[in-house]
Amino acid sequence: MNQVLVLGAGQLARMMALAGAPLNIDVIAYDVVSTNVVHPLTQQCQSLSLIEAIAAVDVITAEFELIPTDILSLCAASGKFKPHPEAIKAGGDRRIEKTLLDLAKVANAPHHIINTRTDLDAAITTLGLPMVLKTALGGYDGKGQWRLKTRDQIESVWAEMAHCIAVTNNQAIVAEKFIGFDREVSLIGVRNANGDVKTYALSENVHTDGVLSLSTAIVGDTILQQQAQQMFTAVAEQLNYIGVLALEFFEVNGALLVNEIAPRVHNSGHWTQQGAQTCQFENHLRAVCDLPLGGTALIRPSAMINILGQDSVPRAVLALESCHVHWYGKEKRAGRKMGHINVCATTPEQLQYQLMLLGQILSQQYFPTLPR
Ligand code: ATP
Ligand code: MG
Repeated sequence: MNQVLVLGAGQLARMMALAGAPLNIDVIAYDVVSTNVVHPLTQQCQSLSLIEAIAAVDVITAEFELIPTDILSLCAASGKFKPHPEAIKAGGDRRIEKTLLDLAKVANAPHHIINTRTDLDAAITTLGLPMVLKTALGGYDGKGQWRLKTRDQIESVWAEMAHCIAVTNNQAIVAEKFIGFDREVSLIGVRNANGDVKTYALSENVHTDGVLSLSTAIVGDTILQQQAQQMFTAVAEQLNYIGVLALEFFEVNGALLVNEIAPRVHNSGHWTQQGAQTCQFENHLRAVCDLPLGGTALIRPSAMINILGQDSVPRAVLALESCHVHWYGKEKRAGRKMGHINVCATTPEQLQYQLMLLGQILSQQYFPTLPR
C-alpha cells in the first residue's frame, strides 16, 4: 500500500484517488483553502494535521501550482515531494516559466516583464501591438489577463495593471506578443525517476471565454506529435521532472510555440480515462510512487467536453454509446468546472457523429463548442 498526499482537494485529486484505488494507492488531500486534510472523494475531514499527514505518507504531490510557498517548503523539506518544487514554482510564476522555456530552448511567445509604466512602453516598442498581458502570479482560466490592441487603450489597461501590481506581493505583468494561432493543442506526458518519458496523443483544445470547453485527441499527425514530444522532453529534462506534466501550445503554420506549462495532470488530458491504455491520473501516481509507467497509446478516437456551471445532464447522454460522465461532486456555481463527458468511437468520423448527437442533447448555451 502506497500513501499519497495531494496538495489541493479538487477534481484532480479526486480523479487521482479513483485511479489509485486498484493499485492499492491510498490518496488523501490537503485543502489549502480550509487548511484541512480531507478525503478526496467525500471531502470528509481526516483527523490529521498537515504536519502529521506529511509524516504519515510515502509521497507528496500537487494538483495545482498556486501553492503557498511556506506549505511547499514544508512538504519539500520532508524529501517526499514530487515533482521537484522548482517545477511547481515554474507553473505558478510566469516569469520563472519563461526563463525555464528559454533555458530548455523551446519556442515560445516573445515576452517582456513589466513592473512600471516605463516597462510597458518598452514592451510595446519591443513586441508591438496587439499584445497579451498576463499577471505573473495567480492567473488561471484566462483570468488576470488583458488584450492591448490599440494605443488609446494604454492608459486604462495600465491603470488596471498598476492596481494588480500594487495589491499583490511580488506581482508583475508578463507582456506577450499576440500569436495569431491556427489552433491550440496540448501534450500530456509522464516522466519517472529513471528519466523514462511517455507521452499521450496531442489534444486539440477549444476554449470559450478563456475556459477549456472541448479537447479532442489528435489522430495520425506524426510530424506535429514528434515536434511536441521533443519540446516536452526538453522541458521535462530541464526540470528533472517526475510525474505527469502538461504543455499547452499554439500551432502556427505547422510549428508549435509553448504557451504555458502545467506541472500536473491537466484538464485537456481527461479523455485518457477512456481513450488511453493508462489514464493520466494513474500514470502520475505510478511515476511519483516509483512504479513502472503504464502505456500511453491512444486506444480509440476520443474527446472530452467540460460541464461548466451545470450539475446534471439529460439521461440521454448516458444512453449514447461510449459516453462517460465524470462528476466532481462540487456545489453548483456559474461557470464552475462541475464535471466532464468523455466520448469515444472506433473512427474519427464516428467520434464527430457522437459529438454531433451530444450537441443535439445538450444546450448551445452551456456547450457552445459542440458540433450541431
Ligand atoms: P489556463 O490555466 O486555463 O490554461 P491561463 O489563464 O493560465 O489558462 P493562458 O493559457 O496563458 O492562461 O491563456 C488563456 C488563453 O488566452 C489561451 O488558451 C489562448 O487562447 C489565449 N492566449 C494566451 N496567450 C496568448 C498569446 N500570446 N497570443 C494569443 N492568444 C493568447
Ligand atoms: Mg492555458
